[in-house]
Amino acid sequence: MEVRQCDFCRMPYQSYGKKICGDCLLKLDHDFFEVKEYLYENEGASIEEVSEGTGVSRKAIMYMLKEERLIVSDNKGDGGGILTCESCKKPINTGRMCASCKKAVLSAMQESVGTVSVVKRPRQRAAEMEPESIKGVAKLQVK
Ligand SMILES: [Zn+2]
Ligand SMILES: [Zn+2]
Repeated sequence: MEVRQCDFCRMPYQSYGKKICGDCLLKLDHDFFEVKEYLYENEGASIEEVSEGTGVSRKAIMYMLKEERLIVSDNKGDGGGILTCESCKKPINTGRMCASCKKAVLSAMQESVGTVSVVKRPRQRAAEMEPESIKGVAKLQVK
């Protein structure tokens, strides 16, 4: 057991291997349930609408997106510019990294077993695209 900083509320807590504290875990599970129910009835609602309709904070909704519990459903495939890959800054529609960066990290981890290796970073393409404040235009979907 170790003391860690909660990934969500930033408070120190005793971690049993989870990224967030017990309070946030319970809260987010409850929030996720609310969001899920709302999206069943209001398919393709925006972050704004979901937040207003459920009372769940936008911060919590963003966290669910990053944890891949929700997905931005939009046909352009750029996630409405809400989420970007933490490695190459490419627009993504769920999680923290795009598929190719995830793959690169995974294979780097496998290669590094017993050897020293350099993580090859993919070319920076949309580096200028910093995530802005939540626009609330993208439609959400339960993953
Ligand atoms: Zn917390
Ligand atoms: Zn990437």
